[in-house]
Amino acid sequence: MSNENRFWENTPFDELNPKQWEQICDGCAQCCAHKLQDDETDEIFLTNIVCQHLDMKKCQCSVYGNRHVHVPDCIKITPENANRLNWIPDTCGYRLLANGKPLPEWHPLVTGEQESTHLSNMSVTGKVISETDIDIDELEDYLVEDDYFSRLCSSIGAQD
Ligand code: SF4
Ligand code: SF4
Repeated sequence: MSNENRFWENTPFDELNPKQWEQICDGCAQCCAHKLQDDETDEIFLTNIVCQHLDMKKCQCSVYGNRHVHVPDCIKITPENANRLNWIPDTCGYRLLANGKPLPEWHPLVTGEQESTHLSNMSVTGKVISETDIDIDELEDYLVEDDYFSRLCSSIGAQD
């Protein structure tokens, strides 16, 4: 891809158009995994349980257009909050760009391949359970390490 087409490197983060903004998402769906927060320390813990609206086969939200109707507290990343959301993964394209970092080598925009996030094992595919398949009151039983989703990253590109 020519440099002029690498819009994410040449356009200020808060001036991306809606189509460009959507393309920054790598489709990992890691933000659809439930987290637990310690009441006293505010520390956030990751689980391998995902929202019921995640299409597990496609690794896509099945209600994306009106997801906030179904899940009012579903993430809404904006140029203003992208560098403050400490519970989204370090590899999230929005978080990286908001902090002045490059997109990783495995990002679909960099590879030109829509499937490269999955092929590099950075998505939640095959690593999660739907919230409908567990007793949600027992979420604590499904805590995983912070790097759970990226640990198996393959050779397409290492994490930044
Ligand atoms: S964590 Fe970021 S890159 Fe991954 S699906 Fe969510 S918004 Fe997209
Ligand atoms: S509503 Fe969609 S985008 Fe929001 S957490 Fe659920 S699956 Fe993810």
